[in-house]
Amino acid sequence: MLQHAISLIVHGSLKDFLARELRGKRCVFHIKGNPSIKDTLEAVGAPHPEIAGILVNKRSVDFSYQIQGGEDIEIFPAEAFPSGLAPLQPPLPTPPIFIVDVNLGKLVGKLRLMGFDSLYKNDLDDHRIVRIASEQQRVILTRDRGLLKHGAVVWGYWVRTTDPSEQLLEVARRYDLQEHLAPMTRCSACNGLTAEVAKEEIADRLQPRTRKYYDRFRLCRDCGKIYWAGSHYRKILEWVEALAGPEKKRQT
Ligand SMILES: [Zn+2]
Repeated sequence: MLQHAISLIVHGSLKDFLARELRGKRCVFHIKGNPSIKDTLEAVGAPHPEIAGILVNKRSVDFSYQIQGGEDIEIFPAEAFPSGLAPLQPPLPTPPIFIVDVNLGKLVGKLRLMGFDSLYKNDLDDHRIVRIASEQQRVILTRDRGLLKHGAVVWGYWVRTTDPSEQLLEVARRYDLQEHLAPMTRCSACNGLTAEVAKEEIADRLQPRTRKYYDRFRLCRDCGKIYWAGSHYRKILEWVEALAGPEKKRQT
């Protein structure tokens, strides 16, 4: 089978998928046959949902483009997307809704407390995650790059950091979540919506100190969990403040 050389320039956060010694350089790869550019880029390391745009010889192409040999290829992530380039994914639902992989169990509660619809079950395998994401137009959040390489995945993000609070900031920056914050409107335990509830309706379920010092409460309509502006609320306000802080988007 014929071998071709292609040259590749990788921009912004897509460099995270390259071997360290290849970052920041024009890389040359040798390709056999005429694979699709999608398969070629995934073999290099970048899952297709992370690639927002592709230029081949300065021309915008989509994932079905087949390698001929000799191409100059540039790939762009969402945060370094140049104007004039055709986007590879359809527009995201606003605000985005998520399905969170089992390896991000601490992130999911934080997203829900900020008001974001985030499905999570610790017994979902990759195929079910991909199917639910596709049926419900959800963004897949995962620490597993392989999951994002499933062909049916449209929107997905590989969470870089392992620190749960930093993960929330990372996802918020990627999807501009600060514009859609709705703290305490969703249940961290079950993803149900919460609503204000009169104190007398739930007073018998409160600890004496909570009953004494707090008057406003919210109740999860699905699982009955009670929320109030207690100590965990300070943490939520800190996250809101951090999310509203200066943008720390990466440079190309
Ligand atoms: Zn609930």
